[in-house]
Order: sequence, then structure tokens, then C-alpha cells
Amino acid sequence: MTMACKRATELMSLRIDRELTLAEKSSLRLHLAICRYCRRCEKQMAMLHRIAARRRENCDQQE
Ligand SMILES: [Zn+2]
Repeated sequence: MTMACKRATELMSLRIDRELTLAEKSSLRLHLAICRYCRRCEKQMAMLHRIAARRRENCDQQE
């Protein structure tokens, strides 16, 4: 994993908590275009994100 990959995965997890800036978005998109590893990583993270979102919904319903 290169430094660029580390940065890209950071941005991907950041994106779950808050909206990325335009600069962040474009650097992430640029990296995903050239890096197969991070594309796969992004897919997995999107899946985890959906699961986490569902868990949060369940918690809200219980309160
Ligand atoms: Zn990468």
C-alpha cells in the first residue's frame, strides 16, 4: 500500500462521517481511477457503511 492509497482510504472513511471537500473528492476520484486495490477497498467500505447505517436505524427505533 502506497502513501497515496493510505490517503485514499482515509478519505473513504472520512466520507462516511462528513461530506468531502471538492479537492478531497477529486483527489479520491483520481486515485480510484488508477488504483485497482482502492477500488476494491471502496466497494467493501460502501458495504460496511450500509450495514452500519442499518444498525443506527435499529438503535433509533429502540429508543
Ligand atoms: Zn490505492
